[in-house]
Amino acid sequence: MSKKLLVLPGDGIGQEVTASAVEVLNYLVDANNLDIEISYNDVGGASYDKYGEPLTEEVLKEAKASDAILFGAVGGPKYDDLPWDKRPENALLGLRKELQLFANLRPSYLFNELASASPIKDSIIQGLDILIVRELTGGIYFGEPRSIESDKAFNTMVYNYDEIARILKVAFEAASKRNKKLCSVDKANVLEVSKFWRSITNDIAKEYPDVEVSHQLVDNAAMQLVLDPNQFDVIVSSNLFGDILSDIAATLSGSIGMLPSASLNAEGQGMYEPCHGSAPDIAGQDIANPLAMIGSLSMALNYSLDMQNISSQLDSAIKNFVSRGYRTVDIAVKGEPTLKTSEVAKEIIKILEEG
Ligand code: NAD
Repeated sequence: MSKKLLVLPGDGIGQEVTASAVEVLNYLVDANNLDIEISYNDVGGASYDKYGEPLTEEVLKEAKASDAILFGAVGGPKYDDLPWDKRPENALLGLRKELQLFANLRPSYLFNELASASPIKDSIIQGLDILIVRELTGGIYFGEPRSIESDKAFNTMVYNYDEIARILKVAFEAASKRNKKLCSVDKANVLEVSKFWRSITNDIAKEYPDVEVSHQLVDNAAMQLVLDPNQFDVIVSSNLFGDILSDIAATLSGSIGMLPSASLNAEGQGMYEPCHGSAPDIAGQDIANPLAMIGSLSMALNYSLDMQNISSQLDSAIKNFVSRGYRTVDIAVKGEPTLKTSEVAKEIIKILEEG
């Protein structure tokens, strides 16, 4: 049966980087005879401009019927004063909620040729390749009751057994396919929720005897990520802690234009997007780096479209592209020649053609 892929470019550089990823995708489909049905629609500000809503019922229906969604980015100053339910960012939260995308996968890796772009010393950062698995639909961001009153405010950190077990299973599976090391990050010295999380981690670990499990408290993990990031393979954490840790990990690799992400549900459906936003400061100039979006396409091929072989070919092509010295302006050393956004896909395709 053919796989369904919905492309939602969104706003600003979302449009530009998605066009590059689609050019690569079209090549892969033709060259490998892939059975993928591709459809396109508007989301975020682009949807608000046409329909008065950042996420229409039609898009939601199409998204639910798709195996994977390629999502560019949404937002921009033009929409900043809209009420919350009309703001472009609301589309992202709506899709995550409606599709129950509870597992957020954020790889952070360094191309050694780009080590000088990292804020961390070469000797510490060389070879970086970690994956953060963050729980995305539960925990303190959604817990009830929550309130802000004149003299106090409160939120509730709550997780049930199934919510914890399912994110841990995603993390254990990922670790067993990588370097077989999983670090679960919590605050078990203070929080009951974390003690519960830790005991479930130890239970599930018994099902994965080949994965080496460790636990770190979140304050230490934040420090360790900067001091010695290569000690990690896969890190799993709750919504709040994972949010913070994945941004630290993103910073390590130097450019936000390089980092893809995936958000998955229990059925393996996924939304794939770069970690960056719509970058209004550079939108329309054809200078955005599309590698995060092309990397997100590769994750879609791997996790939701069951085309792992093609995904590895694409990952190698991206690595080759960087090692041959091709640069967009964000990762170029001053004075180096640079490629425009619209030129990147053509070079990646040439590398893929070489096989
Ligand atoms: P941003 O990620 O859009 O930009 C931050 C900085 O990184 C900017 O200087 C930008 O030029 C640069 N940058 C980002 N992506 C790049 C790329 N691919 N190549 C080269 N440089 C790149 O974050 P922001 O400026 O805080 O937000 C801009 C808008 O995007 C806001 O409306 C925000 O709400 C929205 N946003 C959307 C998402 C999303 O759709 N997932 C995520 C974050 C922010």
